[in-house]
Amino acid sequence: MSRSAPIPLPVLPKPAAPGQLVPCLECGYCCTYLAVGINTPSTPRFATDVLWYLYHERVSVHRDVDGEWSVVFETRCRNLQADFKCSIYAQRPHICRRFDETGCEVNAPDQRDRVFHSAAEFLAYLRGWKPRTFARMQKQFVPDAYRPQALATAAASARVARPQRRPGTKLSGAAARARRTVARRAKARTRA
Ligand code: SF4
Ligand code: SF4
Repeated sequence: MSRSAPIPLPVLPKPAAPGQLVPCLECGYCCTYLAVGINTPSTPRFATDVLWYLYHERVSVHRDVDGEWSVVFETRCRNLQADFKCSIYAQRPHICRRFDETGCEVNAPDQRDRVFHSAAEFLAYLRGWKPRTFARMQKQFVPDAYRPQALATAAASARVARPQRRPGTKLSGAAARARRTVARRAKARTRA
């Protein structure tokens, strides 16, 4: 099976000047992906889940400022028009109504997630963050291309981006994760 050509990720608009917000109608970025909360990859079981996510194209894994993890799929909403208006604005889902654009990934850069775009980036991070987990995974789950030398290169290129702030009350455990999955994509965009 031949591999398709890489598809560029959506472009994250530049943050506005201090004190100013990027208008939603000049952006549309948060309608070009969806995020689902995942287990903290502190064990081989959950860390290999992250590897699996990252082996797929147009998928990234995020750790937010609260230490919550999510998998993000780059996929444009079918209702987002070329002019960045929502074609179903009056009937848009709950999740699209609740987000505060003052705390979104574009307008609140201080809330940015750590983002992993590749398995190599994640493994380089895991090696420093959870060395015992990494060591337990090495033999069976870490491909040769991602062994320490390659990981050093990946670590240098790892970057922080794509902030996500969640509105609402913080819950715990599974409830928090479920709530978070919804809240991450919630937004109240002032477009008609
Ligand atoms: S809420 Fe933020 S990311 Fe979404 S369209 Fe508005 S400015 Fe862009
Ligand atoms: S507001 Fe919701 S339904 Fe409308 S374009 Fe954005 S993601 Fe799609």
